[in-house]
Amino acid sequence: MDIIEKILANVEKTTKAVVQKSTDVVEITKVKLAIAGDESKLDDLIKETGRLVYDAYKTGTGDPGDVQEKCKEIEALSDEIVSKKNQLSRLRNLRRCPVCGTENDIDAVYCNRCGEKLPEVEVEIAPDMPGDPKDE
Ligand SMILES: [Zn+2]
Repeated sequence: MDIIEKILANVEKTTKAVVQKSTDVVEITKVKLAIAGDESKLDDLIKETGRLVYDAYKTGTGDPGDVQEKCKEIEALSDEIVSKKNQLSRLRNLRRCPVCGTENDIDAVYCNRCGEKLPEVEVEIAPDMPGDPKDE
């Protein structure tokens, strides 16, 4: 009976690991798709902004506020893409350099490519972990 319980416990553990792994793969694919969508949206925004600027140049009219609005949208979307790329690196267990975007090992202190000091890794505490300080 003991050996069967051990086997069952192992099977459960392995199943959990496999489920976790495929969840990660699904999550990574989702984030990748979201980044691709955002990047294509960003291209469109930049084209639209260029058209606004050119039309204003050509006609001698145009509202500089429109261009500024578009630039703000571009910046917001760029920030969103960076944060999704950071999320992707975390899912892959890598650390993304805030300066050059290179992915480094999770335990790297400096960027492999540009030498920038990498930010501290935020330690996520699993909610079901015993001794969670939040439980006090
Ligand atoms: Zn770097």
